[in-house]
Amino acid sequence: MPVISPKKPYRVGRSRTGLGLFATQRIKKGTKIIRYFGPLLDSKKKKDDAIENKYLFELNNRWTIDGSVRKNVARYINHACKPNAESDVRPRKRKVFIRAIKNIEPGDEINYDYGTDYFKAYLKPIGCKCAACEKKRKKKRAEARAERLRLKAKAERKAKKEAEKEAAKRAKAKSRAKAKKAKEKAKVELKPERKRKVVSKRRVANGLQLNGSTPSRRSRPKTAATLAVVEQPIAATGEASAILQASNLTMSAATGTETQQASA
Ligand SMILES: [Zn+2]
Repeated sequence: MPVISPKKPYRVGRSRTGLGLFATQRIKKGTKIIRYFGPLLDSKKKKDDAIENKYLFELNNRWTIDGSVRKNVARYINHACKPNAESDVRPRKRKVFIRAIKNIEPGDEINYDYGTDYFKAYLKPIGCKCAACEKKRKKKRAEARAERLRLKAKAERKAKKEAEKEAAKRAKAKSRAKAKKAKEKAKVELKPERKRKVVSKRRVANGLQLNGSTPSRRSRPKTAATLAVVEQPIAATGEASAILQASNLTMSAATGTETQQASA
């Protein structure tokens, strides 16, 4: 690192991109900080025009300062898109000064804008690392992260809603199936009761008449086919036949009226 007089308001130090120039004292806005200097290159001379490095400072069409020399401490100043200093170019004098355009506090890095040509050639391809650009990138990253989180939350909400919908659908189907089963069970339990009456009445009536008390309604004896269909569910359910047997017993003990049979 170059030796810098302690009287100077700056020092060379580590920056985010390597080395940089930092204020060691307060530098007031408008103050000349340092001269950017080096051999003058004449674009009319082939030898001069062939020189190529990152520290060339073009004064005008003809003259360029080659700032790559070690003694040029100003070459440590990094570029910034929102700088606190600027290059003050004096083409006639063929001199360049770096001047503060803001009050610079001790510890602050000193920056100036290298200009569009330099930016396009050297910084844009690798991405500018200046504080302003880093801040911009950080903001973009935060926004992208927030957007990702928002989308994730949205997807989760949707999935939850769908799961709830599916669960409700399943519960509905289950309760419907349960209700159907209960209905069927009730039907099975009810059927033998009705049949019992018919069968018992038939037995009571000795197969001649089904119901003597209401002949107009059931005067016609049941055919063999109807009886077969009617009796089938009774045989299918052990429980039902048990009920039937039990009620038959009750029936034989009872007086034989329909109201008593129904309450039994
Ligand atoms: Zn930048």
